[in-house]
Amino acid sequence: MKLAIYPGTFDPVTNGHLDILKRAASVFGTVYIAVAQNMHKNPLFTTEERIAMIQNCTSQYPNVKIDHFKGLAVEYAQKVGASVIIRGLRAISDFDYEFQMALMNRHMNDNIDTVFFMPHEDYTYLSSSTVREIVRFGGNVSEFVPGIVKNELIRKLRSNE
Ligand code: ADP
Repeated sequence: MKLAIYPGTFDPVTNGHLDILKRAASVFGTVYIAVAQNMHKNPLFTTEERIAMIQNCTSQYPNVKIDHFKGLAVEYAQKVGASVIIRGLRAISDFDYEFQMALMNRHMNDNIDTVFFMPHEDYTYLSSSTVREIVRFGGNVSEFVPGIVKNELIRKLRSNE
């Protein structure tokens, strides 16, 4: 049974991420969601907060584990014995960046392949950054993130109001 990692920032996890995870978990023996710690993105949520939200939304999958990593995804994949990196492709706009990264990762480790899943079309325009912006300006994100994530976003972004 193949082991795959699904690396990302997950700041926070959205229904788009969870849609990709559901598809990946039905194909691979085990999927590690790997929360990236060292992104330049200056995340809104700490690594621990991002992990706790993911844990809360994925308990129905016995073959999904949650972890975090620093540095290169290929090195993390090798360390845990994974042969596949999962990524999501929403639209053409994702393609260029994802293609570049997949080829660079393969260049660094030819034993690890990147496998792309496409989400349900309802999620093709959904991103963590859009969700953060909507909440920041008082909008409703109920259809884009699980309830617990929505509450955490409101707590974090509107606590000074
Ligand atoms: P990163 O900083 O690594 O891009 P993200 O959390 O933004 O981290 O995304 C992780 C992966 O999930 C990426 O492959 C991204 O394309 C994918 N992804 C993000 N949002 C969606 C979505 N709505 N539908 C499908 N894939 C998504």
